[in-house]
Amino acid sequence: MNAYDTVVVGAGPAGLWTAAELALGGGRPLVLERAEQRSPHSKALVMHPRTIEVLAMRGQEQAFLDRGLPVPEGHFGMLPALLDFRGLDTPFPFLLAHPQLRTEELIEQHALTLGAVIRRGHQVTGLSQDEQGVTLQVSGPDGEYEITADHVVGTDGAGSTVRKAAGIEFPGTDSTVFGFLGDVELTDPPERPGYWHNEHGGLIVVPLPGGRYRVTGYSPSALTPTLESLRETAKLIAGTDFGPHSPVWLSRFGNATRLATEYRKGRVFLAGDAAHMHFPAGGVGLNVGLQDAMNLGWKLAAVQRGRADAALLDTYHAERHPVGVALGEHTKAQTALITATTEEGQSLRRFMADLLRAHPDVATALANTVTALDVRYPGVHPLAGQRLPATREQLHLLRDGRPVLLAQEGSPELKELAASTDLQLYETELPWSAAAVLMRPDGHVWAAGDTAGQLAEAMAELPLA
Ligand SMILES: Cc1cc2nc3c(=O)[nH]c(=O)nc-3n(C[C@H](O)[C@H](O)[C@H](O)COP(=O)(O)OP(=O)(O)OC[C@H]3O[C@@H](n4cnc5c(N)ncnc54)[C@H](O)[C@@H]3O)c2cc1C
Repeated sequence: MNAYDTVVVGAGPAGLWTAAELALGGGRPLVLERAEQRSPHSKALVMHPRTIEVLAMRGQEQAFLDRGLPVPEGHFGMLPALLDFRGLDTPFPFLLAHPQLRTEELIEQHALTLGAVIRRGHQVTGLSQDEQGVTLQVSGPDGEYEITADHVVGTDGAGSTVRKAAGIEFPGTDSTVFGFLGDVELTDPPERPGYWHNEHGGLIVVPLPGGRYRVTGYSPSALTPTLESLRETAKLIAGTDFGPHSPVWLSRFGNATRLATEYRKGRVFLAGDAAHMHFPAGGVGLNVGLQDAMNLGWKLAAVQRGRADAALLDTYHAERHPVGVALGEHTKAQTALITATTEEGQSLRRFMADLLRAHPDVATALANTVTALDVRYPGVHPLAGQRLPATREQLHLLRDGRPVLLAQEGSPELKELAASTDLQLYETELPWSAAAVLMRPDGHVWAAGDTAGQLAEAMAELPLA
């Protein structure tokens, strides 16, 4: 008998959401975090519509909306033709500017409320697994110790110890270009969030809570910025330096792009940056990490609590690894556009921007890709794996973290099916022609049918216990 059903390694956004999902599903996960305190610096600022939908599926979105700043437009590769999010088919058609520090605080509170246990100052140094479980070596404030669990989720970031100790490969490319970042005060800030790009590089200036600004972008210099270099770069790219002073964080980041070959190895799973790293173009990493966690959490909880067959766990890699592949592809494409400072590169950027302006449907497709609204998982039925393009109220129907039956009309047969499968049945307008669907807890269709009989038949194929 193992001490824990799941140990989650790393209390970043992906680990905290995984722990919350496991606790919601009836487990009591333990999170081990090596840092004694959370970093005061927020890498991520941007949350995407699909992530806000994820939060809404657990009734958690309001606190983020209250504190965040909705921004109706995003960019692809810092092209001047911005992507308009207002027409996207989601109740949250905007980017939400919300610093990572606050995101982690809110998710941690949610996880603790549900019963997750978080130990800070505990660094995992190694692991081994066999048929009985996983043994983790941990270095804590009182010394070294071992702990056993049925499953381990490595959400310990790009340098993941869990990934290495489990023997999972992380192939890809090293950094060849670097972006710069300064969280500073500005004496002469731009009136609105601004994007600039020319033969000297790219620049983004966005407000942060508390009156500071993030001045970030790309210039061919590979050095960590100083206030002086930030001024010079801003002048070269935007024609003015906005008067930066009082920096709280000056940093740089690279375009190393890597993807774990296996998101699952036996009893060990990877999610978030532990599974994928890339240039932070378009602000996607935290978003994809939370979406990984949303995909894995309910499955692991359902298998551990005997509500689903172990085969369900194999679908995690099958569904999320392709998303990681696509993530690497579009962030590399964006990196190429952001770093396109040559004469030819500038022409390419103008050409692409003109195309986006002339073909709004292409811009919408890009917006759906960057925001993960177009993620669809494989399935037998034509609807299976599709994301529910839902209202906010419909997303709230999933707040218990269990699958639910959604039907245009709750016929006696459907009511009987719901009772016999111990599932909640809700009458609601469906965006598809099917009369009823079984919705997964992560908001993707699991099975569909025009009659209760058809739906029951489709459900019989699922790895439900
Ligand atoms: C400049 C910059 C800007 C970005 N902007 C955005 C953005 O706007 N939007 C967006 O979505 N993403 C953005 N990202 C990416 C985003 O910050 C990351 O994708 C996100 O932090 C990943 O979350 P995670 O939980 O997977 O890993 P992390 O946040 O890296 O958390 C991993 C945790 O594991 C802990 N840990 C590590 N090793 C161990 C161990 N051995 N034992 C125990 N604990 C361990 C670490 O201390 C850490 O707390 C940006 C990144 C950068 C660099």
